[in-house]
Amino acid sequence: RNRKLYGCGNATWGLCGCRQSCKLFYRADPLKIVRAVGQYMYDEKGGQYLDCINNVAHVGHCQPDVVKAACDQLAVLNTNNRFLHDNLVICARKLTSLMPAPLSICFFVNSGSEANDLALRLARSHTKNHDIITLDHAYHGHLTSLISISPYKFNLPGGSGKAEWVHVASCPDVYRGKYRAVDYPGQDMGKMYADEVLDICKKARGGGHTIAAFIAESLQSCGGQIIPPDNYLRNVYRYVREAGGVCIADEVQVGFGRVGKHWWAFQLQGEDIVPDIVTVGKPMGNGHPVAAVITTLEIAQSFKESGIEYFNTYGGNPVSCAVAIAVMDVLERQRLREHATRVGNHLLNSLRQLALKHLIIGDVRGVGLFIGIELVEDRENRIPATAKAQHIVSRMKEEYILVSSDGPDRNVLKLKPPLVFCQENADHFVKILDEVLTEMNDDEVTMEAGSPQRQKKANHPEFENSPNEKKIKIDDQQSEKIIKV
Ligand code: PMP
Repeated sequence: RNRKLYGCGNATWGLCGCRQSCKLFYRADPLKIVRAVGQYMYDEKGGQYLDCINNVAHVGHCQPDVVKAACDQLAVLNTNNRFLHDNLVICARKLTSLMPAPLSICFFVNSGSEANDLALRLARSHTKNHDIITLDHAYHGHLTSLISISPYKFNLPGGSGKAEWVHVASCPDVYRGKYRAVDYPGQDMGKMYADEVLDICKKARGGGHTIAAFIAESLQSCGGQIIPPDNYLRNVYRYVREAGGVCIADEVQVGFGRVGKHWWAFQLQGEDIVPDIVTVGKPMGNGHPVAAVITTLEIAQSFKESGIEYFNTYGGNPVSCAVAIAVMDVLERQRLREHATRVGNHLLNSLRQLALKHLIIGDVRGVGLFIGIELVEDRENRIPATAKAQHIVSRMKEEYILVSSDGPDRNVLKLKPPLVFCQENADHFVKILDEVLTEMNDDEVTMEAGSPQRQKKANHPEFENSPNEKKIKIDDQQSEKIIKV
């Protein structure tokens, strides 16, 4: 293969400096995608892949109305937002109309990271406090300010570690987290997890720290598709406000109707749950870089009074706003939230049926088209099946299905497809996953040297050829058995 043409393919060609720090999907055999339509992506040889990964292409890859809105506006005017322009007003009105009433002020930026960085500034200028409470395993963006509040990054071996102004609360994971639903039947798990935030607030105050904000994804995605238990945000928001902080909902991944029933995932916790600041991004532009921060008049006023103006060259430009308006229109016109609920429920039911057959599926959870399949070595101890999850991701790709794994142990298969993903796609996904899991089961039973199954596995590029993969698999009991044969 001519790796030169892959952009990030090989740093030794000197074409792309990010190669060494940017991890490609399927690094043993990366994909070159040349076009995409709806929920399908196509490689350079015309191979069609079912896209279960792309939460950015929210209303479908290259959705014609969105493409047209961008092209039409680009042909007329694109400029910074120091001029009046209808698109800016229409987009802000539309976006704020989808939020609970107090959230009436909109700042336009270009990425989820910029949105979260601005959210921190708003929180600090409003509260005059500095410290931030974040969740374990969280990721909030690539800016310096956000790496500091992202345990997903700062806890890496080369990371800078936790700063003293950052306070980390447990991720409210009731399947494999600190408190597990199985151990506390009938108890208010939301309050149990929230009480940890209360403790943090008390300790911070005792240590002379003041809380500016609590920030969390309304459903944690990098954490492994986590659905917080009922009453979590209700209690957390109360504790944080009592401690003088504000509450930031990061809806960069999960906003804009991915959860189906609601526009915003924080609404799953109750109509009375209203953050002080909401950040949105990815799906907002369907691939075009546009993002926003939505907040209250009061907070915006405090920011204004700080005297530091906010100017962002590309934020709120007429093209980005045209794109975002088109995305929201398509979501409504095509009733994609209702569709996400219907297809998501169907997929969750089918996956739960599949879990009856395959013990490796420890948990199936999700809402709308935000779904996680947690893979475990045994259901009792819930040891993460990390190596097997990587194997499944690779095998699914060979079957032309793109799915990823995430969570602190990378053992959660993560589905967040474009919302046009349909019931037939869901059935196809489940059928292929069933085949792959069956094949893995068969392999474990009949793995004899020279058998076709053994041969197939040995030939698998990510199984034997990658030194890293091999190391992971050696840590993993079942795979160690396979390697020794
Ligand atoms: N917040 C969350 C929850 C994210 O997942 C991401 C990106 N993965 C960001 C913020 C940062 O967004 P961006 O990459 O657009 O800067």
